[in-house]
Amino acid sequence: ALTAGIVGLPNVGKSTLFNAITKAGAEMANYPFATIEPNVGIVEVPDDRLARIQEIEPADKIIPTTFEFTDIAGIVKGASKGEGLGNKFLENIRQVNAIVHVVRAFDDDEIIHVNGKVDPLDDIDTINTELVLADLEAVDKRYAKVARAAKGSDKAAKAEAAVLEKIKPVLEAGKAVRTIDFSEEEEKVVKSLFLLTSKPTLYVANIAEDDMANPTNSPYYQKIKDFADSEKAEVIALSANAEEEIAQLDDDEKADYLELAGVKEPGLNKLIRSAYHLLDLRTFFTAGGKETRAWTFKAGYKAPQAAGVIHSDFERGFIRAETIAFADLDEYGSVKAVKEAGKLRSEGKDYDVQDGDIIEFRFNV
Ligand code: GDP
Repeated sequence: ALTAGIVGLPNVGKSTLFNAITKAGAEMANYPFATIEPNVGIVEVPDDRLARIQEIEPADKIIPTTFEFTDIAGIVKGASKGEGLGNKFLENIRQVNAIVHVVRAFDDDEIIHVNGKVDPLDDIDTINTELVLADLEAVDKRYAKVARAAKGSDKAAKAEAAVLEKIKPVLEAGKAVRTIDFSEEEEKVVKSLFLLTSKPTLYVANIAEDDMANPTNSPYYQKIKDFADSEKAEVIALSANAEEEIAQLDDDEKADYLELAGVKEPGLNKLIRSAYHLLDLRTFFTAGGKETRAWTFKAGYKAPQAAGVIHSDFERGFIRAETIAFADLDEYGSVKAVKEAGKLRSEGKDYDVQDGDIIEFRFNV
């Protein structure tokens, strides 16, 4: 499964946030075959549509889809110089599909800041610099390998060298590779380089609990947001402390807590949704049987690939996908009414599955 790695300087609230994630954790009875590493937190992806489908087509149970966060510990400063643990830190980031970068945006004299003062831009820069330096080294190494072939008639080498030449000055200016616009062809080369700063990134401002209702009141948050905008990256604000508390409450207590704090939903929900979208993930549903269930697929999947998310047999023996858009089911209020309105579609193997599709797969066994 795709995973987002949580990174940040020491003492910014990473562990607190990761604890919130594991405490809010998925109902593991639903995933009996999942093996979980200690640094992986699996959460259910909040989705109001499940309850609405269940209302219309009641089943024995509701099973949300899940998302995995990975806690990336380790020292940060000097990591790119390759000193022991630092190397491991970068290696762990290399393994994840997206980066959730936690930045301290709260004041608290009791909690020591590694750089002596709360300065979100400086914090972001400390981490990003290590990633940029590691990428620069990788780019230089790669360039030394392809440069000679690129001088000859090797087209692939030429293309790669050109991309490396485009990337290098950006890294030298201290900027992330994800800030560069690439053509589709270039994008393929970039993917093959596995650069750290090309990973989709989400900034999390860990704000004070007092700022939860109005994050824009926090000058720290504002700075982080401006920086994220300049990188075309997403940013969300939450209080890790509050999230850890919220994650332990039952539904009623949770509702009270959120109302008091002046927010509509836990920050964790925003985090999960943002990370899910950051990785271009989408949801389809199955219903009408024993369970109303959500499944994750990657944007651009064809119907057989989506079927394969459920079971490889479904993909191999795929015949067609009986599909209802969630919006149609919601509007017509019953499967029967949807059918009468001619909104039940029989889709074939070339169908691009859409977010919110409710699908019954037909397949040969
Ligand atoms: P890590 O080193 O990044 O994993 O940071 P921790 O999660 O261990 O947090 C460091 C300290 O900051 C702990 O004492 C936390 O309780 C505290 N902390 C984390 N989040 C918040 C927050 O939102 N507000 C305040 N005031 N303290 C926080």
